[in-house]
Amino acid sequence: MTDVILVLNAGSSSIKFRAYYIEGGELGLGLHGQVEGLFSAPHFIAHDRHGEAAGEKRWGDGAKLSHEEGIQFISQFLTSHRGDNRLVAVGHRVVHGGEKFAKAVLATPDVVDELDKLTPLAPLHQPHNLKPIRIVAAMHPHLPQVACFDTAFHRSQTELAQAFALPESITARGVRRYGFHGLSYEYIAQALPNFSKRAAQGRTIVAHLGNGASLCAMHAGRSVASTMGFTAVDGLPMGTRCGSLDPGVILYLLEELKMTPQAIEDLIYKESGLLGVSGVSGDMRKLLASAAPRARFAIDLYTYRIGREIGSLAASLQGLDALVLTAGIGENSAEIRRRAAEQAAWLGIELDAAANEAGGPCISTPSSKVEVWTIPTDEELMIARHTRAVVDAL
Ligand code: AMP
Repeated sequence: MTDVILVLNAGSSSIKFRAYYIEGGELGLGLHGQVEGLFSAPHFIAHDRHGEAAGEKRWGDGAKLSHEEGIQFISQFLTSHRGDNRLVAVGHRVVHGGEKFAKAVLATPDVVDELDKLTPLAPLHQPHNLKPIRIVAAMHPHLPQVACFDTAFHRSQTELAQAFALPESITARGVRRYGFHGLSYEYIAQALPNFSKRAAQGRTIVAHLGNGASLCAMHAGRSVASTMGFTAVDGLPMGTRCGSLDPGVILYLLEELKMTPQAIEDLIYKESGLLGVSGVSGDMRKLLASAAPRARFAIDLYTYRIGREIGSLAASLQGLDALVLTAGIGENSAEIRRRAAEQAAWLGIELDAAANEAGGPCISTPSSKVEVWTIPTDEELMIARHTRAVVDAL
Protein backbone atom coordinates (compact mmCIF):
# COMPACT_ATOMS: atom_id res chain seq x y z
CA MET A 1 0.00 0.00 0.00
CA THR A 2 1.34 3.46 -0.94
CA ASP A 3 0.59 6.57 1.13
CA VAL A 4 -0.68 9.56 -0.82
CA ILE A 5 -0.78 13.28 -0.05
CA LEU A 6 -3.41 15.31 -1.89
CA VAL A 7 -2.67 18.98 -2.64
CA LEU A 8 -5.58 21.35 -3.30
CA ASN A 9 -5.09 24.83 -4.69
CA ALA A 10 -8.47 26.54 -4.88
CA GLY A 11 -9.17 29.87 -6.55
CA SER A 12 -12.33 31.84 -7.18
CA SER A 13 -13.43 29.69 -10.14
CA SER A 14 -11.09 26.72 -10.23
CA ILE A 15 -9.78 23.92 -8.01
CA LYS A 16 -6.45 22.37 -8.93
CA PHE A 17 -5.46 19.04 -7.40
CA ARG A 18 -2.31 16.94 -7.32
CA ALA A 19 -1.84 13.57 -5.68
CA TYR A 20 1.71 12.74 -4.54
CA TYR A 21 2.89 9.23 -3.72
CA ILE A 22 5.24 8.99 -0.77
CA GLU A 23 8.00 6.84 -2.20
CA GLY A 24 10.79 6.51 0.35
CA GLY A 25 12.33 9.95 0.77
CA GLU A 26 10.69 11.27 -2.40
CA LEU A 27 7.29 12.58 -3.38
CA GLY A 28 6.19 11.30 -6.78
CA LEU A 29 3.47 13.06 -8.76
CA GLY A 30 0.43 10.86 -9.38
CA LEU A 31 -3.01 11.84 -10.65
CA HIS A 32 -3.38 15.59 -11.15
CA GLY A 33 -5.76 17.97 -12.82
CA GLN A 34 -8.39 20.60 -12.16
CA VAL A 35 -11.97 21.70 -12.35
CA GLU A 36 -12.09 25.13 -13.93
CA GLY A 37 -14.90 27.49 -14.92
CA LEU A 38 -16.93 26.49 -11.84
CA PHE A 39 -19.56 29.17 -12.37
CA SER A 40 -19.61 29.47 -16.16
CA ALA A 41 -18.78 26.22 -17.99
CA PRO A 42 -17.31 23.69 -15.53
CA HIS A 43 -14.65 21.47 -17.04
CA PHE A 44 -12.82 18.68 -15.25
CA ILE A 45 -9.61 17.23 -16.63
CA ALA A 46 -7.12 14.81 -15.07
CA HIS A 47 -3.81 13.24 -16.09
CA ASP A 48 -1.92 10.34 -14.62
CA ARG A 49 1.70 10.20 -13.45
CA HIS A 50 2.87 9.66 -17.05
CA GLY A 51 0.98 12.72 -18.30
CA GLU A 52 -1.62 10.55 -20.06
CA ALA A 53 -5.26 11.68 -19.99
CA ALA A 54 -7.01 9.96 -17.07
CA GLY A 55 -10.44 11.59 -17.09
CA GLU A 56 -12.48 14.48 -18.47
CA LYS A 57 -15.97 15.87 -17.99
CA ARG A 58 -17.76 18.97 -19.21
CA TRP A 59 -20.94 20.27 -17.61
CA GLY A 60 -21.72 22.63 -20.53
CA ASP A 61 -22.00 26.40 -20.97
CA GLY A 62 -24.04 28.13 -18.29
CA ALA A 63 -23.79 25.20 -15.85
CA LYS A 64 -22.63 25.94 -12.31
CA LEU A 65 -20.72 23.88 -9.77
CA SER A 66 -20.16 25.03 -6.19
CA HIS A 67 -16.72 24.55 -4.66
CA GLU A 68 -18.27 21.78 -2.59
CA GLU A 69 -19.58 19.97 -5.67
CA GLY A 70 -16.22 20.43 -7.40
CA ILE A 71 -14.34 18.93 -4.45
CA GLN A 72 -16.84 16.08 -4.16
CA PHE A 73 -16.33 15.31 -7.85
CA ILE A 74 -12.54 15.30 -7.45
CA SER A 75 -12.87 13.14 -4.35
CA GLN A 76 -15.08 10.59 -6.14
CA PHE A 77 -12.72 10.54 -9.10
CA LEU A 78 -9.70 9.91 -6.86
CA THR A 79 -11.55 7.26 -4.83
CA SER A 80 -12.48 5.36 -8.00
CA HIS A 81 -8.82 5.44 -9.13
CA ARG A 82 -7.39 4.74 -5.69
CA GLY A 83 -6.20 1.17 -6.19
CA ASP A 84 -4.46 0.18 -2.96
CA ASN A 85 -3.26 3.72 -2.19
CA ARG A 86 -4.11 5.36 1.13
CA LEU A 87 -4.80 9.09 1.51
CA VAL A 88 -2.86 10.27 4.58
CA ALA A 89 -3.21 14.07 4.42
CA VAL A 90 -4.43 17.02 2.37
CA GLY A 91 -2.28 20.12 1.88
CA HIS A 92 -3.79 23.46 0.92
CA ARG A 93 -2.44 26.66 -0.50
CA VAL A 94 -3.51 29.55 1.71
CA VAL A 95 -2.51 32.97 0.49
CA HIS A 96 -2.31 34.77 3.85
CA GLY A 97 -0.84 33.61 7.14
CA GLY A 98 -0.64 37.12 8.61
CA GLU A 99 1.95 37.95 11.26
CA LYS A 100 1.30 34.81 13.26
CA PHE A 101 1.81 31.93 10.82
CA ALA A 102 5.46 31.83 9.80
CA LYS A 103 5.29 28.20 8.67
CA ALA A 104 2.83 25.56 7.52
CA VAL A 105 0.41 24.36 10.22
CA LEU A 106 -2.19 21.71 10.90
CA ALA A 107 -5.46 23.31 9.77
CA THR A 108 -7.63 22.62 12.82
CA PRO A 109 -11.06 24.33 12.98
CA ASP A 110 -9.59 26.96 15.36
CA VAL A 111 -6.73 27.70 12.97
CA VAL A 112 -9.16 28.03 10.05
CA ASP A 113 -11.31 30.45 12.08
CA GLU A 114 -8.20 32.50 12.80
CA LEU A 115 -7.21 32.50 9.13
CA ASP A 116 -10.71 33.67 8.26
CA LYS A 117 -9.99 36.90 10.15
CA LEU A 118 -7.28 37.67 7.56
CA THR A 119 -9.84 37.72 4.72
CA PRO A 120 -9.90 41.55 4.57
CA LEU A 121 -6.16 41.41 3.77
CA ALA A 122 -6.69 39.10 0.77
CA PRO A 123 -10.38 39.30 -0.13
CA LEU A 124 -10.03 37.73 -3.56
CA HIS A 125 -8.07 34.66 -2.44
CA GLN A 126 -8.37 33.84 1.27
CA PRO A 127 -12.06 32.77 1.35
CA HIS A 128 -11.57 30.44 -1.64
CA ASN A 129 -8.45 28.95 -0.05
CA LEU A 130 -10.24 28.23 3.24
CA LYS A 131 -13.45 26.84 1.78
CA PRO A 132 -11.93 23.48 0.71
CA ILE A 133 -10.42 22.94 4.17
CA ARG A 134 -13.89 23.12 5.72
CA ILE A 135 -15.42 21.00 2.96
CA VAL A 136 -12.81 18.25 3.36
CA ALA A 137 -13.10 18.44 7.17
CA ALA A 138 -16.84 17.81 6.88
CA MET A 139 -16.22 14.83 4.59
CA HIS A 140 -13.23 13.34 6.51
CA PRO A 141 -13.12 14.79 10.06
CA HIS A 142 -10.05 12.73 11.08
CA LEU A 143 -7.91 13.33 8.00
CA PRO A 144 -5.00 15.70 8.78
CA GLN A 145 -5.10 18.88 6.71
CA VAL A 146 -2.24 21.34 6.43
CA ALA A 147 -2.37 25.04 5.53
CA CYS A 148 0.68 26.28 3.59
CA PHE A 149 1.10 30.03 3.28
CA ASP A 150 2.27 32.33 0.51
CA THR A 151 3.41 34.83 3.12
CA ALA A 152 5.43 32.51 5.40
CA PHE A 153 8.69 32.50 3.39
CA HIS A 154 8.95 36.29 3.77
CA ARG A 155 8.78 36.29 7.57
CA SER A 156 12.59 36.20 7.54
CA GLN A 157 12.62 39.84 6.37
CA THR A 158 13.85 42.52 8.77
CA GLU A 159 11.41 44.88 10.47
CA LEU A 160 12.83 47.61 8.23
CA ALA A 161 12.01 45.71 5.03
CA GLN A 162 8.46 45.03 6.26
CA ALA A 163 7.63 48.55 7.41
CA PHE A 164 5.53 51.24 5.76
CA ALA A 165 6.33 54.81 6.79
CA LEU A 166 3.07 55.06 8.72
CA PRO A 167 2.38 55.89 12.38
CA GLU A 168 3.06 53.04 14.77
CA SER A 169 -0.62 52.79 15.74
CA ILE A 170 -1.45 51.77 12.16
CA THR A 171 1.52 49.40 11.86
CA ALA A 172 0.38 47.75 15.11
CA ARG A 173 -2.86 46.78 13.38
CA GLY A 174 -0.85 44.58 11.00
CA VAL A 175 -0.52 47.14 8.21
CA ARG A 176 2.90 46.12 6.91
CA ARG A 177 4.55 44.43 3.98
CA TYR A 178 3.88 40.69 3.94
CA GLY A 179 5.01 39.59 0.49
CA PHE A 180 3.41 36.73 -1.45
CA HIS A 181 4.31 33.91 -3.91
CA GLY A 182 6.30 32.51 -0.98
CA LEU A 183 5.67 28.85 -1.89
CA SER A 184 7.13 29.50 -5.34
CA TYR A 185 10.17 31.31 -3.91
CA GLU A 186 10.75 28.63 -1.32
CA TYR A 187 10.67 25.94 -4.01
CA ILE A 188 13.23 27.90 -6.07
CA ALA A 189 15.41 28.45 -2.97
CA GLN A 190 15.42 24.67 -2.37
CA ALA A 191 16.16 23.95 -6.05
CA LEU A 192 18.97 26.51 -6.47
CA PRO A 193 21.79 24.36 -4.99
CA ASN A 194 21.18 21.90 -7.87
CA PHE A 195 21.89 24.68 -10.37
CA SER A 196 24.43 27.08 -8.88
CA LYS A 197 26.28 27.36 -5.59
CA ARG A 198 26.74 31.08 -6.17
CA ALA A 199 23.00 31.67 -6.75
CA ALA A 200 22.07 29.48 -3.77
CA GLN A 201 24.48 31.10 -1.32
CA GLY A 202 24.71 34.63 -2.68
CA ARG A 203 22.47 37.58 -3.47
CA THR A 204 19.73 36.47 -5.85
CA ILE A 205 16.61 38.08 -7.26
CA VAL A 206 13.86 35.66 -8.24
CA ALA A 207 11.22 36.93 -10.66
CA HIS A 208 7.92 35.05 -10.42
CA LEU A 209 6.29 36.19 -13.66
CA GLY A 210 2.93 34.49 -14.05
CA ASN A 211 -0.61 35.81 -14.04
CA GLY A 212 0.38 37.32 -10.72
CA ALA A 213 3.91 38.70 -10.71
CA SER A 214 6.45 39.70 -8.10
CA LEU A 215 10.17 39.75 -7.37
CA CYS A 216 11.90 38.44 -4.27
CA ALA A 217 15.39 39.40 -3.13
CA MET A 218 17.08 36.45 -1.42
CA HIS A 219 20.32 36.21 0.45
CA ALA A 220 21.55 32.64 0.94
CA GLY A 221 18.06 31.38 0.07
CA ARG A 222 16.23 33.57 2.62
CA SER A 223 13.79 36.33 1.70
CA VAL A 224 15.24 39.79 2.27
CA ALA A 225 12.68 41.92 0.38
CA SER A 226 9.74 41.53 -1.97
CA THR A 227 7.87 43.76 -4.42
CA MET A 228 4.51 42.63 -3.05
CA GLY A 229 3.45 44.34 0.15
CA PHE A 230 0.34 44.47 2.33
CA THR A 231 -1.64 42.83 -0.43
CA ALA A 232 -0.87 40.94 -3.64
CA VAL A 233 -1.74 44.00 -5.73
CA ASP A 234 1.54 45.83 -4.97
CA GLY A 235 4.76 45.89 -6.98
CA LEU A 236 4.92 44.83 -10.62
CA PRO A 237 2.07 45.26 -13.11
CA MET A 238 0.41 41.84 -13.56
CA GLY A 239 -2.15 40.21 -15.85
CA THR A 240 -5.00 42.30 -14.45
CA ARG A 241 -3.53 43.95 -11.31
CA CYS A 242 -1.94 47.38 -11.48
CA GLY A 243 1.00 46.90 -9.13
CA SER A 244 2.46 49.87 -7.24
CA LEU A 245 0.29 52.95 -7.39
CA ASP A 246 0.64 56.36 -5.81
CA PRO A 247 -1.89 56.20 -2.91
CA GLY A 248 -3.02 59.65 -4.04
CA VAL A 249 -4.56 57.99 -7.10
CA ILE A 250 -6.93 56.05 -4.83
CA LEU A 251 -7.99 59.30 -3.13
CA TYR A 252 -8.56 60.90 -6.52
CA LEU A 253 -10.72 57.96 -7.65
CA LEU A 254 -12.75 58.16 -4.42
CA GLU A 255 -13.17 61.90 -4.16
CA GLU A 256 -13.12 63.22 -7.72
CA LEU A 257 -14.45 60.28 -9.73
CA LYS A 258 -16.78 59.23 -6.87
CA MET A 259 -15.86 55.58 -7.38
CA THR A 260 -17.01 53.17 -4.67
CA PRO A 261 -14.45 51.03 -2.78
CA GLN A 262 -15.83 47.98 -4.66
CA ALA A 263 -15.34 49.67 -8.04
CA ILE A 264 -11.79 50.63 -7.07
CA GLU A 265 -11.08 47.07 -5.94
CA ASP A 266 -12.32 45.76 -9.28
CA LEU A 267 -10.24 48.37 -11.11
CA ILE A 268 -6.93 47.63 -9.40
CA TYR A 269 -7.30 43.82 -9.18
CA LYS A 270 -9.26 42.86 -12.28
CA GLU A 271 -9.20 45.66 -14.87
CA SER A 272 -5.65 46.99 -14.79
CA GLY A 273 -2.17 45.61 -15.48
CA LEU A 274 -1.53 44.15 -18.93
CA LEU A 275 -5.29 43.96 -19.60
CA GLY A 276 -6.07 47.52 -18.62
CA VAL A 277 -3.06 49.11 -20.31
CA SER A 278 -3.40 47.16 -23.57
CA GLY A 279 -7.18 47.01 -23.78
CA VAL A 280 -6.45 43.72 -25.58
CA SER A 281 -5.74 40.98 -23.02
CA GLY A 282 -4.10 40.20 -19.70
CA ASP A 283 -2.55 37.09 -21.24
CA MET A 284 1.06 37.61 -22.26
CA ARG A 285 0.88 35.13 -25.15
CA LYS A 286 -1.95 37.13 -26.72
CA LEU A 287 -0.11 40.42 -26.23
CA LEU A 288 3.08 39.08 -27.81
CA ALA A 289 1.02 37.93 -30.80
CA SER A 290 -0.81 41.25 -31.13
CA ALA A 291 0.20 44.08 -33.47
CA ALA A 292 -1.92 46.64 -31.56
CA PRO A 293 0.19 49.63 -30.41
CA ARG A 294 -1.37 49.46 -26.92
CA ALA A 295 -0.35 45.80 -26.63
CA ARG A 296 3.24 46.83 -27.43
CA PHE A 297 3.02 49.62 -24.86
CA ALA A 298 1.71 47.26 -22.17
CA ILE A 299 4.69 44.93 -22.72
CA ASP A 300 7.06 47.94 -22.70
CA LEU A 301 5.62 49.11 -19.37
CA TYR A 302 5.76 45.58 -17.94
CA THR A 303 9.44 45.07 -18.74
CA TYR A 304 10.38 48.64 -17.78
CA ARG A 305 8.82 48.13 -14.36
CA ILE A 306 10.58 44.79 -13.92
CA GLY A 307 13.86 46.61 -14.64
CA ARG A 308 13.13 49.35 -12.09
CA GLU A 309 12.19 46.86 -9.40
CA ILE A 310 15.29 44.73 -10.09
CA GLY A 311 17.32 47.90 -9.44
CA SER A 312 15.47 48.50 -6.17
CA LEU A 313 15.94 44.93 -4.93
CA ALA A 314 19.61 44.88 -6.03
CA ALA A 315 20.04 47.93 -3.78
CA SER A 316 18.37 46.09 -0.89
CA LEU A 317 20.87 43.24 -1.42
CA GLN A 318 23.80 45.65 -1.96
CA GLY A 319 24.77 43.79 -5.12
CA LEU A 320 23.63 40.91 -7.27
CA ASP A 321 24.99 37.43 -7.99
CA ALA A 322 22.08 35.88 -9.86
CA LEU A 323 18.71 36.56 -11.44
CA VAL A 324 16.19 33.70 -11.75
CA LEU A 325 13.08 33.87 -13.92
CA THR A 326 10.16 31.55 -13.26
CA ALA A 327 6.36 30.93 -13.60
CA GLY A 328 4.32 31.00 -16.84
CA ILE A 329 6.02 33.99 -18.48
CA GLY A 330 9.48 33.56 -16.90
CA GLU A 331 9.63 29.88 -17.86
CA ASN A 332 8.17 30.11 -21.35
CA SER A 333 8.81 33.48 -22.95
CA ALA A 334 12.34 33.98 -24.30
CA GLU A 335 11.31 37.44 -25.49
CA ILE A 336 10.23 38.70 -22.06
CA ARG A 337 13.32 37.13 -20.45
CA ARG A 338 15.50 38.95 -22.99
CA ARG A 339 13.75 42.25 -22.45
CA ALA A 340 13.81 41.96 -18.66
CA ALA A 341 17.53 41.15 -18.78
CA GLU A 342 18.16 44.13 -21.07
CA GLN A 343 16.58 46.40 -18.49
CA ALA A 344 19.13 45.12 -15.97
CA ALA A 345 22.16 45.16 -18.32
CA TRP A 346 23.69 48.00 -16.28
CA LEU A 347 24.15 45.53 -13.41
CA GLY A 348 26.54 43.55 -15.62
CA ILE A 349 23.99 41.08 -17.00
CA GLU A 350 24.90 39.56 -20.36
CA LEU A 351 22.37 37.18 -21.83
CA ASP A 352 23.36 34.20 -24.00
CA ALA A 353 20.79 34.63 -26.80
CA ALA A 354 20.99 31.03 -28.03
CA ALA A 355 20.70 29.55 -24.51
CA ASN A 356 17.74 31.85 -23.84
CA GLU A 357 15.96 30.76 -27.03
CA ALA A 358 16.68 27.12 -26.11
CA GLY A 359 15.05 27.60 -22.69
CA GLY A 360 18.10 27.46 -20.40
CA PRO A 361 18.39 26.62 -17.58
CA CYS A 362 21.48 28.91 -17.55
CA ILE A 363 20.86 31.80 -19.97
CA SER A 364 23.79 34.14 -19.19
CA THR A 365 27.20 34.18 -20.92
CA PRO A 366 30.26 32.91 -19.02
CA SER A 367 31.54 36.51 -18.80
CA SER A 368 28.26 37.92 -17.41
CA LYS A 369 28.86 39.48 -13.97
CA VAL A 370 25.46 38.18 -12.88
CA GLU A 371 24.24 34.63 -13.55
CA VAL A 372 20.80 34.40 -15.15
CA TRP A 373 18.69 31.26 -14.88
CA THR A 374 15.24 30.15 -15.95
CA ILE A 375 13.95 27.47 -13.57
CA PRO A 376 10.42 26.00 -13.47
CA THR A 377 8.66 26.55 -10.16
CA ASP A 378 6.45 23.97 -8.43
CA GLU A 379 4.25 25.44 -5.72
CA GLU A 380 2.20 22.26 -5.38
CA LEU A 381 5.28 20.11 -4.68
CA MET A 382 6.30 22.67 -2.04
CA ILE A 383 2.85 22.30 -0.43
CA ALA A 384 3.21 18.50 -0.51
CA ARG A 385 6.65 18.74 1.17
CA HIS A 386 5.29 20.99 3.93
CA THR A 387 2.25 18.76 4.40
CA ARG A 388 4.43 15.70 4.75
CA ALA A 389 6.70 17.43 7.27
CA VAL A 390 3.76 18.58 9.42
CA VAL A 391 2.12 15.14 9.35
CA ASP A 392 5.42 13.34 10.06
CA ALA A 393 5.82 15.51 13.16
CA LEU A 394 2.38 14.60 14.56
P1 AMP B 1 0.97 31.29 -14.61
O1 AMP B 1 0.08 32.17 -13.77
O2 AMP B 1 2.28 30.98 -13.97
O3 AMP B 1 0.27 30.06 -15.14
O4 AMP B 1 1.35 32.16 -15.92
C1 AMP B 1 0.36 32.61 -16.83
C2 AMP B 1 0.99 33.60 -17.80
O5 AMP B 1 2.07 32.94 -18.50
C3 AMP B 1 0.03 34.12 -18.86
O6 AMP B 1 0.21 35.51 -19.05
C4 AMP B 1 0.47 33.37 -20.10
O7 AMP B 1 0.19 34.09 -21.29
C5 AMP B 1 1.97 33.29 -19.87
N1 AMP B 1 2.60 32.31 -20.74
C6 AMP B 1 2.49 30.97 -20.72
N2 AMP B 1 3.19 30.41 -21.75
C7 AMP B 1 3.76 31.45 -22.43
C8 AMP B 1 4.58 31.56 -23.59
N3 AMP B 1 4.99 30.48 -24.25
N4 AMP B 1 4.96 32.80 -23.98
C9 AMP B 1 4.55 33.90 -23.32
N5 AMP B 1 3.78 33.87 -22.23
C10 AMP B 1 3.37 32.66 -21.78
